[in-house]
Amino acid sequence: MRDFLVAGNWKMNGDFATNAELVAGIVAGVPDKDNVKLLICPPFPYLAAAAGGIEGSSVLLGAQTVSEHEAGAYTGEVAPGMLRDLGCEYVLVGHSERRALYGESSEDVASKFVAALSAGLKPILCVGETLDEREAGGTEVVINEQLAAVLAAVGVDGLQTAVIAYEPVWAIGTGRTASPEQAQEVHAMIRAVLAKQNSEVAEGIQILYGGSVKGDNAAGLFTMPDIDGGLIGGASLKAVDFLAIANAAAGI
Ligand code: PEP
Repeated sequence: MRDFLVAGNWKMNGDFATNAELVAGIVAGVPDKDNVKLLICPPFPYLAAAAGGIEGSSVLLGAQTVSEHEAGAYTGEVAPGMLRDLGCEYVLVGHSERRALYGESSEDVASKFVAALSAGLKPILCVGETLDEREAGGTEVVINEQLAAVLAAVGVDGLQTAVIAYEPVWAIGTGRTASPEQAQEVHAMIRAVLAKQNSEVAEGIQILYGGSVKGDNAAGLFTMPDIDGGLIGGASLKAVDFLAIANAAAGI
């Protein structure tokens, strides 16, 4: 059985005081269930403070993106080793906002994935289709292409410590969630793609669903056999909302 991972992507939100309060609220309410892990991904400037805030708790720390380079003249970038230094265990790569707003191609995402792995970080590879792509019947093709770039770069064994997040772009921040059945279909497809190359990796990898997950729809999603938790945007910004989702996982 795979554990649940409930990850909060705070995006570019909060300030020193509100983020400290959010960390404290989450730490205070972690469900007492060994198979449910919580992960927070604050903005870069608050990672160090968050690392202090989660100390002594089971809450995990991650970042929202990372440079594909180890070090050097890359103004404004943050290296994977720096994230490790700050106490990060995870990093998101290929979030749809990075792909759409910052032009990250699947090859760029694969390079970041490689760099994250090399530094000992666990990459959370985000994949997902737009509404147009879904309506044109292209969901599988899009996700295969996003997966293929990473598989070409690291091979299936490179996914051993990784997590995948299926995030249909049309469900992110829109209040429109994929139904548990729609999400399950894609999660099973992702697992099947990996299983063709290595059934152990396919069985072991956590595949999270992301896209307008809330306390009241989380349980329906998390009871599906191939959904191993969630990547949460909006609802991760209030401890009570984030914990409601974590508690939904704990109740399964
Ligand atoms: C996200 O951006 O990863 C996300 C899932 O956002 P939201 O939960 O707000 O849809």
